[in-house]
Amino acid sequence: MISNERIQYLHKNGVNQEGKFIVYWMQGAQRVLDNHALEFAILKANELNVPLIVAFVIIPDFPSANARHFLFMLEGLLEVSKALKARGIGFYLQKGQLLEQLLKLEKSTKVLIMDKGYGTYEREIRAEVTAAFGCDAYEIDTNLVVPVETAYQKEAYAAYAIRPSIMRLIDQFNERCEERLPHIAFVSFQDLDMANSLEIDNPVAFMAEHLSHLESLPKITGFYGGTSQAINKLEAFVEDGLALYENKQSDPGSFGTSKLSPYLHFGQIAPVTILSRVENKSKAFVEQLVVRRELAYNYIYFSGDNRLTLKETLPSWAYESLMAHASDTREYLYNLSTLESGKTHDPYWNAAQLEMVLSGHMHNTMRMYWGKKIIEWTNHPEKAYEWMRYLNDKYSLDGRDPNGYAGIAWCFGKHDRPWRERAIFGKIRYMNDKGLIRKYNMTEYLAHVAQLRGADFE
Ligand SMILES: Cc1cc2nc3c(=O)[nH]c(=O)nc-3n(C[C@H](O)[C@H](O)[C@H](O)COP(=O)(O)OP(=O)(O)OC[C@H]3O[C@@H](n4cnc5c(N)ncnc54)[C@H](O)[C@@H]3O)c2cc1C
Repeated sequence: MISNERIQYLHKNGVNQEGKFIVYWMQGAQRVLDNHALEFAILKANELNVPLIVAFVIIPDFPSANARHFLFMLEGLLEVSKALKARGIGFYLQKGQLLEQLLKLEKSTKVLIMDKGYGTYEREIRAEVTAAFGCDAYEIDTNLVVPVETAYQKEAYAAYAIRPSIMRLIDQFNERCEERLPHIAFVSFQDLDMANSLEIDNPVAFMAEHLSHLESLPKITGFYGGTSQAINKLEAFVEDGLALYENKQSDPGSFGTSKLSPYLHFGQIAPVTILSRVENKSKAFVEQLVVRRELAYNYIYFSGDNRLTLKETLPSWAYESLMAHASDTREYLYNLSTLESGKTHDPYWNAAQLEMVLSGHMHNTMRMYWGKKIIEWTNHPEKAYEWMRYLNDKYSLDGRDPNGYAGIAWCFGKHDRPWRERAIFGKIRYMNDKGLIRKYNMTEYLAHVAQLRGADFE
């Protein structure tokens, strides 16, 4: 079932009568399971009695993406290519400039389908692609439970504003996809007079051959890309973590969260797939997966995402208060290189930074603490904002995501309320290491990071 609210009819030029196939240009939803855009494309292909081709363009200079992100993505795309072939759908993989690669398909495309983009960059490139194709085009909102424009029609001030609407609509939009087969199976690109697709038999070899220019980061072991890996993580979480989530989710030393964020970021798993396994079992998990995540998408969609300055992004009480304290004396001041190498005076902060560098992930509580301390130890909030986004996007597998931009802005007061005024932070919420030690098993957390490092943590 695909609700009408997920479907946006963008380009009403009609079906291209010269076309030979339907194209689904996949970008944000890199999966075959519970992909509403793919299922909609199959329905269109069957209606018009033509084959379906899923096109994917690897953009080597994708903003802020490095070898860590690309490898995870390729691991996922290998699964996508196998699953599509098994369903009689062509997978057309190219590398290069997006529009140039997609336009090779333009003349033969009857109808173009896209998955929805939420950030400014994603929306701009979808507008360019749509304008360049002469045929009908549709955009399908498949990476959220409640479609972004249905959940709330403007930027929500905080979670309390969007929660009632999301919770009222959650059952209506908690729709998994019925898997259909195309009536006309794809045979070969030669049959369609097209150049051959690139093949990913081995993601590491593919990286060496096609993407060797990218910056390499330390190798990570805890995450391997792909829908089947996401399902394994989900099942392990349902088995071992979900029952404890309500009480233990905030404790960095209990490792009780799902670690599904990288898979959600690349669209390798749909939130409706996750919801179908956890529904009604944990209110706290639904709050994070649906309310908090969809608040972040609302923020990015309606406000204009990470290109905004701190002033443009924050409520005025937070910005003014931070600026009033911008020149307060700091006990510690660090430069970017000290922060990046995790060499501050604070063992908890260093552990958080190293967790992100070595594993590609950081626990949510530590992300909050990490961000708050960067504000405290940097000589201006604008600088702290820039460095946090740089470090998070570079090392986190789930970086460059609406959740990341919202989480970082939260550290500066976004989606939060004023607190008691204090030095440096003004009225924005403050965190300290005493709070971590009092509430959580920080010994366990440090031991975990030391293990990642392969040596004792100083
Ligand atoms: C400074 C800072 C930076 C952050 N950067 C990112 C980022 O780059 N990418 C990212 O996906 N998240 C980011 N977050 C939000 C949150 O920390 C992560 O989503 C969460 O830690 C992912 O781990 P998990 O999948 O085990 O979460 P779980 O606790 O298992 O939650 C399940 C899912 O719910 C969503 N979720 C959980 N917590 C939040 C939250 N606070 N806000 C929005 N959605 C949430 C995520 O999609 C997550 O995968 C950031 C938060 C802060 C404070």
